[in-house]
This record gives sequence, C-alpha cells and structure tokens, in this order.
Amino acid sequence: MANPTAQQKLDELKKKIEASGTTQELASQATQLVFGAGNPEADLIFIGEAPGKNEDLQGEPFVGAAGKFLNEMLDGIGLKREDIYITNIVKYRPPHNRDPLPEEKAAFLPFLQEQIDIIKPKLIVTLGRHSMDVLLPGLKISQVHGQPKRYKGQVYLPLFHPAAALYNGGMRQTLVEDFSLIPTILEKL
Ligand code: URA
Repeated sequence: MANPTAQQKLDELKKKIEASGTTQELASQATQLVFGAGNPEADLIFIGEAPGKNEDLQGEPFVGAAGKFLNEMLDGIGLKREDIYITNIVKYRPPHNRDPLPEEKAAFLPFLQEQIDIIKPKLIVTLGRHSMDVLLPGLKISQVHGQPKRYKGQVYLPLFHPAAALYNGGMRQTLVEDFSLIPTILEKL
C-alpha cells in the first residue's frame, strides 16, 4: 500500500493485536477483540476501560447502558458517534467485568498509543481512572476531572466513567457539566 488511509492503518493494527497473543488469558475467554469505532480522523477520541458483555458480543465499544448515556451527552454538545472515535485501554472483556489488571493495561498501552498516533486527535477524553492512569500517570480523578491537561505534547480531558456516574446523581451531574466543556476546549486547540 503506497499511501494507506487512517482506516487501513487501523485495520492493520487490529490484525496485529489479534496475531500478537496479547493477554491470551483474556482473549481465550472473550468472544472477540473490541478494537474501536468511529471516525478514523476524528479530532476527539474517548478512551474507556474495557469491553463489557454487550461490547464483547457486538464487537463495538460502549453499546450498553453506559454507551447510551454517552450518546446522550454527545447529543447535548451536538456530536454523533460518527464524529468521534471511541475505544478502550483493554480490548478484551475481563471475565465477570472485573477491573482490568495493571499488567493487562500495560500490555495494551503500546497498541493504544499506535491507535492514537494514527488518528492524531486534538483532544483525548479519558473515561474513568483506568484509561487516565495509563495515559496521565499519578493523577487522582476526583481531583482532576474536567480539567484539561497537556502531557507530552497531547491535550487530555479526564472525566468520570459514564457507568460509574449512571446511577450516582451527584457524579452524573458533575460528568454532564464536565462534558459540556468539550466544545470550548476543542475550539481553543
Ligand atoms: N465500559 C467501558 O469502559 N468500555 C466499554 O466499551 C463499555 C463499558
């Protein structure tokens, strides 16, 4: 391929992860790799934790209850799923939806970094502490949520995870407010 498109590069990366034997233990229990979805040239990437049951079955990130809430918040700022790109740090479903282990996050980080390098977003929104921990180490989500951070030349916005905020009124309100900052942050970049 002389000049592969971003989508072609992403397709290649997906195949590379599948062939790599990364987190064999998780892969053997999962239905499939949940690589990512959306616009391969998006200005905005959302990065969650790991696929849940629905994502594992459908092969797409954030298609369950948390995804529905995320879609509502996107709608609130005039964006659709096709306008953004969305993925997770860990790309196979952890059994029984347990938290991803530090070594699982570490194993996927180089692939996530490649994915980001292909898409070249202006802003990376981390959803929850797991994706924040790997990309913006050493921060506490309770202290930094909603505050844009520049780190190694990339701008990030750490947010609470929509699944955590879904049934917690206070956190839900905070997440919706933090989310509404996205257009202004993007405009300035
Ligand atoms: N929660 C996540 O972190 N990722 C998904 O894809 C779905 C739910």
